Amino acid sequence: MSDCLFCKFVSGEISPQTVYEDDDVLAFRDINPQAPCHVLIIPKKHISTLNDLTEQDAELVGKLYLAAAKVAKQEGIDEAGYRTVMNCNEQAGQTVFHIHLHLLGGRRMNWPPG
Ligand code: 5GP
Ligand code: ZN
Repeated sequence: MSDCLFCKFVSGEISPQTVYEDDDVLAFRDINPQAPCHVLIIPKKHISTLNDLTEQDAELVGKLYLAAAKVAKQEGIDEAGYRTVMNCNEQAGQTVFHIHLHLLGGRRMNWPPG
């Protein structure tokens, strides 16, 4: 999608601070980190929101979580613990409409979230 920021990261038009990449997934540091470790994991395929997932995307979503676990290990936060979050639409605070899994760690997380 030509006007999507995260698609520009995938195409290389803009270079994020990449921490992990494979054929299907890209992971990079959030520009406005909410924790000592805050990485966004995205599918290379453009999907606007969680509501737009189809059955064909089931394996791809699994790959997002596998990448999150790899990055957590790479960042040294896997044993202490971390949180993964995917916001969907306005009330959840989604601001970039290309699905992304937030990986947050390096500090204690509150529950329930605000
Ligand atoms: P959302 O609010 O949609 O769940 O999350 C969007 C995330 O993208 C936010 O945490 C925000 O800081 C991050 N973000 C927005 N613009 C950029 C950018 O240009 N580069 C990076 N690395 N992250 C961004
Ligand atoms: Zn996109």
